[in-house]
This record gives sequence, structure tokens and C-alpha cells, in this order.
Amino acid sequence: MPLTSTAATTTRLPAGIAGTVITPDHPDYDQARTVTYGDMFKRPGLIVRVSGPDDIATAIAYARDNGLELAVRSGGHSGAGFSSTEGGLVIDVRDLKGIDIDPDNKTVWASAGVTAVELTEALTPHKLIVGFGDAGTVGVSGITLGGGVGYLSRKHGLTIDSLLAAEIVTANGKVLIADADNHPDLFWALRGGGGNFGVVTRLKYQLHALPAFTGGMLLLPATAETIAGFVKAAREAPDELSSIANVMPAPPMPFLPAEAHGKTVIMAMLAFAGDDAAAEAALAPFRAIGKPLADFVRPGPFASMYPPDDGEEYHPTAVSMNQLVNTIGIDEAETILGYLAESDAPLRVCQIRVLGGAVARVPADATAYAHRQSPIMVNYAAFYTGPDDRPAKLSWLKDFAAAMYQGDDGAYVNFVNDEGPERVRAAYPGATWDRLRRVKRQYDPENLFRLNQNIPPA
Ligand SMILES: Cc1cc2nc3c(=O)[nH]c(=O)nc-3n(C[C@H](O)[C@H](O)[C@H](O)COP(=O)(O)OP(=O)(O)OC[C@H]3O[C@@H](n4cnc5c(N)ncnc54)[C@H](O)[C@@H]3O)c2cc1C
Repeated sequence: MPLTSTAATTTRLPAGIAGTVITPDHPDYDQARTVTYGDMFKRPGLIVRVSGPDDIATAIAYARDNGLELAVRSGGHSGAGFSSTEGGLVIDVRDLKGIDIDPDNKTVWASAGVTAVELTEALTPHKLIVGFGDAGTVGVSGITLGGGVGYLSRKHGLTIDSLLAAEIVTANGKVLIADADNHPDLFWALRGGGGNFGVVTRLKYQLHALPAFTGGMLLLPATAETIAGFVKAAREAPDELSSIANVMPAPPMPFLPAEAHGKTVIMAMLAFAGDDAAAEAALAPFRAIGKPLADFVRPGPFASMYPPDDGEEYHPTAVSMNQLVNTIGIDEAETILGYLAESDAPLRVCQIRVLGGAVARVPADATAYAHRQSPIMVNYAAFYTGPDDRPAKLSWLKDFAAAMYQGDDGAYVNFVNDEGPERVRAAYPGATWDRLRRVKRQYDPENLFRLNQNIPPA
């Protein structure tokens, strides 16, 4: 069959694919190439919606033989746009939807196309959980390979701290199981090293009992005192409590009076993994910070932390930057309020994630996420309205991050965008970088998997 892509110069489609091969003339092409961010849509020459490891091996060989840029896509949330390619080949794992729960041993094998909310909902009847992030539509493989920071981090660590094994198709087409006993270096690298080592097909997680859960949104007015107070409460909270706090001008949410729209608020998502009485006690300091503008924190299923998504048509254009800091007291809170006030972005936010707890109890060299002792992660983000507006929003981000800089040069790879090799190095300090490069040399010596936060082979 002729290939109609203008960029791919090959004349034949890959033979023997059991899944779906989508070329630019396919009726589903536009839908298939759509990713989360509106400024990241590319025009691949081929999208291969794989049905399993054999398809993946075939697609890898085809991309190599034809010199096609290779992208790997799961949930499509890459802020760097790395899950699609101009003219190249996308290995799309979204049709890999298996979920195999072993309630007795508290483990699950989840296929690479499963999303965080799909797995969470499947685990709910078993009162078991594994933690991902704050967006239910993120693919479990994408978030896990980078680390996974979310609502259970202080209690159970990053997502990778619950990873027991991964099945992966490597650059030479071999299917391997990496775990503590088999290919241990690869298993180490997969826990934070991203999509550098092959295409992951399945992930095995340790599950955690979750007999009771309390969570939801607490909306507080944002002043320097409330922001600093929130961070203090989050740091002093028991490990059962994790939070993600968005300091931002209040969107016109229906439950807010009109006069509150646009006023800076702390829109906090609070999550308590434990019984109701303990939850009330742990939440009291947050509720005492100031009179809440809204309080939706209540007992319920963990899956309720994932609100219905904004629909397939929602594709924002945004810039963002990630940073690790040691403290957010009154001075830093004033800096945050100042920068938010000075921007005209339709949506602008400083997102604060207090870590510590189980994240910090894992040694820095146990996985490829080395920032175990960095207590607070911050993300700055701004929507922009068009290409002309983008540079101004980017420069606002950079100034904001510079004003908040406290000497920690690290970055969390899942929140790094297409920011160049220095930022990839920031994600993998010192010995982590050297070890990742050695593993890369062993499993992908030609750097076939390079459309990612790239770790070149040693
Ligand atoms: C709205 C939003 C909220 C987020 N919230 C959080 C959060 O709370 N916590 C957090 O930790 N992160 C969060 N992230 C970041 C997110 O974890 C990363 O962007 C992650 O890479 C997305 O995975 P994906 O599968 O959805 O994306 P994709 O764009 O499909 O994949 C991203 C990259 O991951 C690699 N990859 C994906 N699947 C595979 C695979 N099967 N095999 C090999 N490589 C693969 C590829 O390199 C790919 O380019 C958020 C992102 C967004 C957009």
C-alpha cells in the first residue's frame, strides 16, 4: 500500500501489524494525532496503534530501517510535544488496555495504554490503590516512567516506588521483563529515566490497602499569610495527607460569588489516605488557615479526585516551568502574589506540592529520581493566546522562577518541557546521569529512542 505522507519517503507500510496503521489519508488521522496541548499537534507520517509487543517490535524495526523519527505515545500529555513527530512514526500504545488485579498479593499488571483514572476505578472495588498524579487522563506508562508525584506521595512515595516490574520492547525488538532480579539496571533506569530505553507494554505495581479516603478541593483566599500557612500545615501534616495547591486568580466557578472571580485564591486539592476521624484531625489546620471560600473535602472514593475531564475539544496552549525549593514562607509567598498580579495571562498559576514523607525515605540512588530530599516542588504555568504572546509568557515564567530560586538546580523530568539538554541534566544530577547513560548504551546504543528528555548513550 503506498504511503501518502509527504515527509516519510518510504513506499510501503510496515507489514504484519495486527493493530491499526493510520496514515494522513485515513479518516481517523486528525483524531489520532491529537494530543493534550493545543500547540503540540504534529503531522506524523504514520501512527501505529499497536496491539502488543510484536507490533511494537515491527514498528521499531520499520522506523529504524526507513530512518523515521520515532515517537512513543500513551496518554498524550507530554508538555514537550514528544509523543508525536513531524513526518515520523508514532508508536501509540493506547489500545493496550489490560488490567490484571491480584487482590490476594495486592499487585496489578496494567497495560501501557491504561490511564490513571481507569486503573484507579478498577481498583476501587478491591479497596486497593496505587498513586499517580492529579490528572486522570494521564497514561500510566508516561507518568510512571518519569516518577509520578501525586495525592499519595507522602504516604506511599512516588509511583515508581510502587513499581515491581515492567515489560519492555527494547530497540533491538527483544521483549524483556525488568524487575529487581532481571535486568536490575534497566529496572532502576525505568524508574524515572522516562521513555529512553524502549517501549513499555505492561507495568506491575505493588498495591496499597485503602479502606477509607477523604479528599477534595479546599478553596482559601490567598494572602502571604495563608500561602505560608498552607505550606507550613502541609509540611507538618501526617504522611497520610498529600496536597497540591494552585495559587491562582479564581476562575468563574459557579459556586463562587461573582465578586470573588479573578481574586487570587489557593485552590488546594487535599487527600487523606486513612479513616474519617483521623482525616478530620489532619484537615483541621488547613481549615483554620482562613475562612474557606469553598470546602469540598469529604470522605469518598479516591477516584473522586479525578474530576470529569474537560472533553476531547479542550486543548490549551500553555507554557510552564518546574522548580524545587526548600521553603515558602511570607517572603516567598509575597513573591508569588506579586508575579501572579503582574501577568495578564488568561490562566496563570503557581502550583505547590509539598513532598517529604515516603518520597524522602527512599535513598537518592535507589531509582533514577534523585531529588528525594527536595521538600517542595513548584510549577509555574501560564496560558498564552497565540504565537506572538508566547515569548512574553515564557519570560514571565523565567523571571518568576529566578525570583523564587533557592539554590536547588534540580527539576522533575515529567514537568520539564522542550527546554534543551541542560534541563534534562537538571533532572538527573551527578551519578544518576552517568548511570543512566550506561544503561542507555546497553539497551539503545543507537539512541533510536531520542524524541524524549534524551539521555544519550555513554
Ligand atoms: C494536565 C497535566 C497534569 C499532570 N499532572 C501530573 C502530576 O500530578 N504528577 C506527575 O508526576 N506528572 C503530572 N503530569 C506530567 C505527566 O506525568 C507527564 O507529562 C507524562 O509523561 C504523561 O504521560 P502520558 O502517557 O499521558 O503522555 P505521552 O505524551 O503519551 O507520553 C509522554 C512521554 O512518555 C514516554 N512514554 C509514554 N508511554 C510510554 C511507553 N509505553 N513506553 C515508553 N515510553 C513511553 C514517551 O517518551 C512519551 O513521549 C501532568 C501533565 C499534564 C498535562
